[in-house]
Amino acid sequence: MNPNDDPARDTTRTTEDAVARLAAQTIGPVLLPGDERYDVECASYNLAIAQRPALVIGATSGDQAQPRPDQHLPREPQHRPWRILMQYAVHHIRRPGLTRDLPYGPEDLFWVSNAATLVMGEQDAVLIDTFVTAEQNQQLIDWVRSFGRRLTHVYVTHGHGDHFFGLGQIAQAFPGVRAVGTDATVAGAEAQVTPDKLTSFWQRLFPGQIPDRLTVPEPLGDDHLELEGQRLDIVETGFTDTAGSTVVWVPALRLIAAGDVAYNDTHPYLAESTTATRREWAATLDRLGELDPAAVVAAHKNPDRPDDPRILAETAAYLREFNQLDADTTTAEELYRAMLDRHPRRINPGSLWSAAQRAKQPALR
Ligand SMILES: [Zn+2]
Repeated sequence: MNPNDDPARDTTRTTEDAVARLAAQTIGPVLLPGDERYDVECASYNLAIAQRPALVIGATSGDQAQPRPDQHLPREPQHRPWRILMQYAVHHIRRPGLTRDLPYGPEDLFWVSNAATLVMGEQDAVLIDTFVTAEQNQQLIDWVRSFGRRLTHVYVTHGHGDHFFGLGQIAQAFPGVRAVGTDATVAGAEAQVTPDKLTSFWQRLFPGQIPDRLTVPEPLGDDHLELEGQRLDIVETGFTDTAGSTVVWVPALRLIAAGDVAYNDTHPYLAESTTATRREWAATLDRLGELDPAAVVAAHKNPDRPDDPRILAETAAYLREFNQLDADTTTAEELYRAMLDRHPRRINPGSLWSAAQRAKQPALR
């Protein structure tokens, strides 16, 4: 057989040609699996996901992966013959939990975190969720700025105040940014900013700390967002921690930004749920697992724990266990104690106490 007819050899030659062509068009080395710097470049790209792209252009910023000055390639990232891979980053703050009258529990865990996710292309970025207080949201703004991207959208996963109270500050800090959510999220958010809800709930729990200018998201009117030609899919999850909640699925990163649909080592908020909605919620988590994500970011997470996809199954198991122990117990105290025995080190037991009280109000089951 003529070695030139060997298809494997042809493939190699074609790849070499393509790499040589690309190398001639770019500043910075073009690296293939097996090349000396390939593993280093992949590792520094994203610590959370093991990426094995077919080739990597060695660079520490988008500027270094520009075409050579004598090459005429489109400026817009989505029209170029290569794509800078998307990245994401997560920022979290700690705050007091919302239920603070719990009878007993591990006092070192009487807090909760809020996490926001920034999905970044080469030049633009989309933020998913904000924080509660003015100070926390200013921290969030400074953190977003540190990445040097143009913020095009803030997507709000659901209509609870701890996820959208930063929208007014963000609109001022990033002119032109669009704050969006589904119709259900917009409706939920409107109910959180009524004068009554603000004074009786949010301002009572966070006196003097809630931002002055609260705005609600506008309806997205679509099933996805776009970031430099790549999709961020909005997955409607039905009634989970609240009515009409959502997660964001980023196929290019195999990332789920889970909002409050999954919790990471934190007692979930169940005070709006019923036995039936918790059953559906657990089934929804099973289906999200079928997307085979590489990472799942819960908006309420143990900051020391990775964004491991197993939190989908953990949250589903927690919900099924809660329903089972609810059936096996009579009083809120019994249910609280039984769940706490099984989850002694989850963060924010106040959320479990509110869940147990709600579950034992017969009219609401
Ligand atoms: Zn929340």
